[in-house]
Amino acid sequence: MPGRSQDKPAKPAAPFVLVIHGGAGVVTTELTPEREAAVRATLEQALRAGHAVLEKGGASLDAVIAAIKILEDSPLFNAGKGAVLTAEGTVEMDASVMDGATRKAGAVAGVKHVKNPIELARMVMEKTPHVLLAGEGAEVVAKQHGLPLMPPDYFITEPRRQQLKRVQEQEKSGKKKAQHETNAERTGTVGAVALDQHGNLAAGTSTGGMVNKKFGRVGDSPIIGAGNYADNRTCAVSGTGHGEFFIRSVVAYDIAALMEYKGLSLAAAADEVVMKKLKALGGSGGVIAVDGKGNIAMPFNSEGMYRGVIRADGRPTIAIRKE
Ligand code: ASP
Repeated sequence: MPGRSQDKPAKPAAPFVLVIHGGAGVVTTELTPEREAAVRATLEQALRAGHAVLEKGGASLDAVIAAIKILEDSPLFNAGKGAVLTAEGTVEMDASVMDGATRKAGAVAGVKHVKNPIELARMVMEKTPHVLLAGEGAEVVAKQHGLPLMPPDYFITEPRRQQLKRVQEQEKSGKKKAQHETNAERTGTVGAVALDQHGNLAAGTSTGGMVNKKFGRVGDSPIIGAGNYADNRTCAVSGTGHGEFFIRSVVAYDIAALMEYKGLSLAAAADEVVMKKLKALGGSGGVIAVDGKGNIAMPFNSEGMYRGVIRADGRPTIAIRKE
């Protein structure tokens, strides 16, 4: 009989989309063609990994993690292998995930041996009653759940050693303001946000933080609401930039709150926070964001931001500079 429920077309699938970033600190004039090609190829690989999950009806959280793992495993980005070094020459990584359907979240700070901190962030969310675990306690959870652990040498690359040396020499000479205050030296934090076919949003962010940071320093990336946030009712956001300013501006949640309480569109909310509020405070950086309809925003107030988008058609678009 016409009109009976079995004759009704199935609920149309949401227009799925994955957006990723590879850090907002890029100085485009210093980017060699070889490096740009390598970065673009890795971003594309990450987009395709996430797309493969979304295409077969997988969850946005799985897509976000699949994409971020590719970037963590690449030495080109400041997350996992190739993370920036602390003032002591060590690696301390932060990461977080949030599920927009349940508003559950998990995060880790200051981990030193976990190959993929983004996976550990998910473990914290799913296997513990907590949201944020730091240092040794977080690594115990990684061990308990069999996540791959690596010796410090796996993460520390020669370019990062040289970068730390350069920054410390510049600081000592007093000629320049502390380099870790500038954009160029903290390129490469990674993040992903996605909308899946079921209409669920998720966000993830992973970083080594800022070069020459004091040991024990925690940035915005594992702080839910600052560097990462997801809520099906509004949006999913992942940030990159000078973390202290992102924490003080509560960037990711502020974008969601403008949508929820003031009815702003995703683009208007993201623009307001990144281009006005954060900038006025002196914070440089940007965000990637997606809402429940598949609208996206990628504002940044720094010179460039590595970023990429892939939708249902499977054609990745990647950009670095201002359009
Ligand atoms: N937001 C990161 C942090 O402060 C760094 C970055 O995104 O470049 O730790």
